[in-house]
Amino acid sequence: MARNTYDDPRAESGSLSRPIFASQGDQLSGPAQLGSTARYNRLMLRMMCITAHPDDEAGGFGGSLRLYCDRGVETSVICLTPGQAASHRGGAKTDQELAALRRKEFAASCEILQVGRGIVLDYPDGQLHRLDLYKVVYELTLCIREYRPHILLTFASEGGVTGHMDHSMASVFATLAYHWAGRNNRYPDQLKDGLTPHRVQKLYYGTANFTLPDRPAISLSPATTIIEIGEYLDIKIQAFRAHASQAPLFPLFEGHVARRGRQELFHLAATMDPSTMTQETDLFVGVKEK
Ligand SMILES: [Zn+2]
Repeated sequence: MARNTYDDPRAESGSLSRPIFASQGDQLSGPAQLGSTARYNRLMLRMMCITAHPDDEAGGFGGSLRLYCDRGVETSVICLTPGQAASHRGGAKTDQELAALRRKEFAASCEILQVGRGIVLDYPDGQLHRLDLYKVVYELTLCIREYRPHILLTFASEGGVTGHMDHSMASVFATLAYHWAGRNNRYPDQLKDGLTPHRVQKLYYGTANFTLPDRPAISLSPATTIIEIGEYLDIKIQAFRAHASQAPLFPLFEGHVARRGRQELFHLAATMDPSTMTQETDLFVGVKEK
């Protein structure tokens, strides 16, 4: 299987059960090996990020994705929709055209962020709250059991600073998948051909220390983890700008970024070791390499 995948490889077959992640034994040859502590896949620390739309990976998590890649962590992004309902259409005449355009933009953004595996699933943009929760969580649980990340990043249930309902639903789906992937009594039909339950050590929600005055009020999760992204801010902006169809959003985004400074904030939402909770400056603090 190709190392870098920026589409849902199962979209053509319509199958939800075909594995999308290479087995852990596969050796890497992609950008993750450029990190200062490059190792074989099965020995690498792994981080998965679950988002709703192409551009969320850059806008919400881009600094941390690239920073941890450069530290030798293998990263993966699963984006639930191809963003076909966006207000900004980039010249696309149909939803299908826009979806195809945004998949390409996602791929370009993932290249900039050096995401090891970037996958766009085919759920309907703007409609995640209408989906069968049990089926979506099934798919994400399978992704977690296959990829076996040490930590998982997603939005919090308020939907991030924009309060977008798709972001809220991504949070709900990802949170349940986080908890259920580790239990042998959830989706036991997946537990065959060597696939076993997998407990992700920590779950983080992206958060912020400001709200937007022109949006409905939201209540944010308090930051427990402050990541100093430093020079990676410029790479994050560059990755967001890869989403050219969304160019009218660039000034808004860069206004957000100016408020955040060179930091990305996270809320530690769940952990296998709750006894050690302290204010953190590293997503992988306390994570065991196994
Ligand atoms: Zn979004």
